[in-house]
Amino acid sequence: MPKKPITKEVIQQVRAFHGHMCPGLAMGIRAAEAALREIGPHSQDEEVVAVVETDMCGVDAIQFLTGCTFGKGNLIHLDYGKSAFTFYRRSDGKALRLVARPEGAGRPDPEWQRLREKWGKEALAPEEQERFKVLHEARCRQILATPLEHLFEAKEPQGKMPQPARIMDSLPCEECGELTMETRIRRFRGRMLCIPCFARLEQR
Ligand SMILES: [Zn+2]
Ligand SMILES: [Zn+2]
Repeated sequence: MPKKPITKEVIQQVRAFHGHMCPGLAMGIRAAEAALREIGPHSQDEEVVAVVETDMCGVDAIQFLTGCTFGKGNLIHLDYGKSAFTFYRRSDGKALRLVARPEGAGRPDPEWQRLREKWGKEALAPEEQERFKVLHEARCRQILATPLEHLFEAKEPQGKMPQPARIMDSLPCEECGELTMETRIRRFRGRMLCIPCFARLEQR
């Protein structure tokens, strides 16, 4: 495997997939780089499974680069709001949990932080927008250029390797008639209901 699997062209593809370049995406690119190096190549099937503890931008890079995708079932989201990514190799159980270090890419530029905060609350003046764009891209470049060991701490995975995705049967909900995966059917007063119907009827 090449030492540096993430070329400039590949970064452009990830950017196109996500829609923009941002620090979160850059972090995801780097986590994927570590996964491709340590755990295995792009997952055609379910050879690798990723457990992500955030649903932010970086996960798009992980899906695109590692082939651990939501639809294939080898991407699992834990809603912990952490920049932490675990990769498991099914063939031998090798696993790696990467946790973003605080200021791992160096202390952020205070001007960039100030503009970013302002941008979240109010519109930036045109010259501020220009300045923000420049600083934002510099921050992304900084993340992309930082050695992996500085960006992430490698820790012990917290859980067992998730079970492979199974093909499930679907049953019609007895309230709305919509086909619902059997594992998501709820029983309520002798009827088989989908989750939204269950929630609605239960509240009556
Ligand atoms: Zn983004
Ligand atoms: Zn229903």
